[in-house]
Amino acid sequence: MSEQQLPVVVIGAGPVGLAAAAHLVERGIEPLVLEAGPAAASAVREWSHVRLFSTWGEVTDPAAEKLLAPTGWTKPDAATYPSGGDWAEQYLQPLADALGDRVRYGTQVTGVSRTGRDRIVDADRESQPFVLHLTTSDGREERLFARAVIDASGTWTTPGPAGASGLPALGEKAVTDRVTYRVPDLKDPAVRARYAGRRTAVIGSGASAFTALATLADVAQEEPGTHAVWILRRGISGSTFGGGEADELPARGALGLAAKAAVDNGHADAVTGFRTEAIERAEDERLILVGDDGRRLDPVDEVIVLTGFRPDLSFLSEVRLGLDERLQAPTRAGAPHRPQPALLRHRLPARPQGAVPPRAGHLPGRHEVLRPRPHLPRHDRLRAGPLRRRGHRR
Ligand SMILES: Cc1cc2nc3c(=O)[nH]c(=O)nc-3n(C[C@H](O)[C@H](O)[C@H](O)COP(=O)(O)OP(=O)(O)OC[C@H]3O[C@@H](n4cnc5c(N)ncnc54)[C@H](O)[C@@H]3O)c2cc1C
Repeated sequence: MSEQQLPVVVIGAGPVGLAAAAHLVERGIEPLVLEAGPAAASAVREWSHVRLFSTWGEVTDPAAEKLLAPTGWTKPDAATYPSGGDWAEQYLQPLADALGDRVRYGTQVTGVSRTGRDRIVDADRESQPFVLHLTTSDGREERLFARAVIDASGTWTTPGPAGASGLPALGEKAVTDRVTYRVPDLKDPAVRARYAGRRTAVIGSGASAFTALATLADVAQEEPGTHAVWILRRGISGSTFGGGEADELPARGALGLAAKAAVDNGHADAVTGFRTEAIERAEDERLILVGDDGRRLDPVDEVIVLTGFRPDLSFLSEVRLGLDERLQAPTRAGAPHRPQPALLRHRLPARPQGAVPPRAGHLPGRHEVLRPRPHLPRHDRLRAGPLRRRGHRR
């Protein structure tokens, strides 16, 4: 099988992976999207209940829209705000359906390397295709070959810890029964019962923390005793609550204002300059947060940790990545870094750098497009069974 017959593999059928696939199709390059979950946008579906601060007009991709047009898809009102569930159901799943068997579900990528070359070996490295190890949802292991790999696996599976140093706080791993790393769906009665009438620490200072504070304040209005303790590493300043009414994204500004109202109305106490170092379980099972300055906070029933997310690079340990030291994003690929919204940072530009021939440069995504030139040796061709069995198009 020649290089041209190998697919460009895209890891992840989230908003970025699906948009990348649509751009590849537009350029006549055959993608194969591998998605760990059972459906498109598996990560986005896990926060279905959260409304985006971006409008519909900001979260669809032009190449994707072109692919969707013949299916009769109509774009939702560009000025309105989807929830995560809307985004998945009304755009991302239809897009994956339009890509057809170019998207394979229940397929987790567990490793990527150059064929026959671990990361140490230089010899003839550039001319080797990529090899991917996969685990399917029924537990089978497979491998397949690719001429390039785009990692669009997102960051959802690796949330930041409560510990202020980016490492779990001492004791954090032992109290996970009372800690969540997601914005809870407080409209779900079972979830609401966990927080209603209780004292909850919210750690973090981004849009997700604002959402948690605002929704806990809503619960507090109906359920007496519901109270939040908002843990911030910094002090409160003019920028703590975001841009407010002047925010570039009005809905994001409104979230900050709602969090501010939660504090102003007494539904949340802000604890500033607090760097969580340890979490202890009290005799009554409540949790005590301990700061690096020795402060011990009054016990809380629950902790919501919303300190951001990091990429999972474990399955890329055998390829050479040029990543920015701070952001762990590729230094040479993709659109220039822009502060927010997050999606735009990853969004595919109309004509990505080097897109003219697929191997002449890089396509955007969280990581460099890994690009081999060569032809597969015959024995590797034979081992690319799963791909061939699926009658993968070229
Ligand atoms: C609560 C919340 C609200 C947000 N609101 C906004 C907003 O208003 N505006 C905005 O622009 N952005 C927003 N974001 C950020 C936005 O959702 C992300 O930037 C976007 O989802 C990133 O898309 P992605 O495709 O890179 O990753 P993801 O959406 O995380 O998708 C990655 C996909 O890869 C799959 N995957 C992961 N690992 C593997 C593997 N090893 N093998 C195979 N498949 C794998 C996952 O199952 C998943 O389907 C929000 C995020 C959250 C959490």
